[in-house]
Amino acid sequence: MKNDINDEQPILDAVDKFLESQVRPYAHQLEKEDIYPAEIVERMKEMGLFGCTIDAEYGGMGLSASTYAKIIERIASVWMSISGIINSHLIMAWAVQRNGTEEQKRHYLPKFATGELRGGVGLTEPDAGTDLQAIRTTAVRDGDHYVINGTKTWITNSMYGNTIALLVKTDTHAQPRHKGMSLFIAEKGPGFIVTRKLEKLGYRGIDTCELQFDNYRVPADRLIGGVEGKGLQHVLNGLELGRINVAARGAGVARAALKEATAYSQLRKTFGKPICEHQAIQLKLGEMATRCEAASLLVLNAAQKFDRGQRCDMEAGMAKYFATESAMENALECMRIHGGYGYSKEFNVERLYRDAPLLLIGEGTNEMQRIIIAKQLIERNPA
Ligand SMILES: Cc1cc2nc3c(=O)[nH]c(=O)nc-3n(C[C@H](O)[C@H](O)[C@H](O)COP(=O)(O)OP(=O)(O)OC[C@H]3O[C@@H](n4cnc5c(N)ncnc54)[C@H](O)[C@@H]3O)c2cc1C
Repeated sequence: MKNDINDEQPILDAVDKFLESQVRPYAHQLEKEDIYPAEIVERMKEMGLFGCTIDAEYGGMGLSASTYAKIIERIASVWMSISGIINSHLIMAWAVQRNGTEEQKRHYLPKFATGELRGGVGLTEPDAGTDLQAIRTTAVRDGDHYVINGTKTWITNSMYGNTIALLVKTDTHAQPRHKGMSLFIAEKGPGFIVTRKLEKLGYRGIDTCELQFDNYRVPADRLIGGVEGKGLQHVLNGLELGRINVAARGAGVARAALKEATAYSQLRKTFGKPICEHQAIQLKLGEMATRCEAASLLVLNAAQKFDRGQRCDMEAGMAKYFATESAMENALECMRIHGGYGYSKEFNVERLYRDAPLLLIGEGTNEMQRIIIAKQLIERNPA
């Protein structure tokens, strides 16, 4: 049971209040020093944000994708890193909610909803990102356990989190390759090693790490769905929601850039008038504002289709592609509008400019989104 869209305003108001009082005043310094926002995470737990999309019967808030996307857009417009703390966690939760056995749902979802267990998804490896079927991490059955060996990289929430949805090969010879792939709920324990935290251009404060699995033993009942060979399918099932949330982040960053630019352009004067009165700046603001509206509407359109249970890979792909490119373009325009100050570490502008490019890459690169859109277009419109 999902929330009614009419019930969402008090939730959105509470999120706005939290962001203004407990995130905005600290974001700049935490990001600059790459400090993990532990107190903010605790507050997010209290607010129930780790359970946004988890069904109420399993202890979550049971929010629709539409309401969830609005929350993410708001968060990302203040500090994008914070949205990543719940985004990939909820993709893991979605994999269990959608594909897990009833026992797995009853055991894990309430703990995910409170944030007692939290983390993200472990898919990418040093030699395999877009081509996930090329992963090399293996899980070999040994009695009532599986023994996992391999390396994962770029795994968000893996240093301060304690659990990830881990994609492995249970059969390295299977053809097609995806039939040999499985997804496990992997809690930290012996053999689950965080080898290093990665230094990043942006998206700082949040932990993104390289992981080593060295004879890591996971109980067989942690295999999501209880059947081998469905791992890639489980991951792909979560991608629509994943793309909607990255798209919402893009809309948020684009909006933040517009807000900074609108304010600054009224304060800064050149040749005797505020720069917002120069037509060159007005053209930029006009384009930026239009991108924001279009991005938010595309996100909402994809989320509403998702909520109706309709196939929305094309719509989610369009929203992800457009909203994240808008984030990048608006961040650059915002920097231009700020002139030299846009290049200063004292303003938020340069953070937006460093955060935005991640969105072009994560949850399926924007090259892949356009290919997905085109394939769907052809499939839906046979000649
Ligand atoms: C900050 C950050 C956080 C991340 N967090 C996570 C996480 O929590 N969990 C996780 O599992 N991963 C995570 N990732 C990894 C991310 O999902 C991958 O980087 C992404 O999927 C791309 O994979 P890749 O880097 O291996 O690039 P590649 O797959 O090597 O792609 C390189 C280039 O080739 C293009 N390309 C590849 N194949 C095709 C094709 N068939 N047609 C056209 N173009 C193609 C791509 O679009 C790209 O431009 C994160 C990455 C970053 C940077």
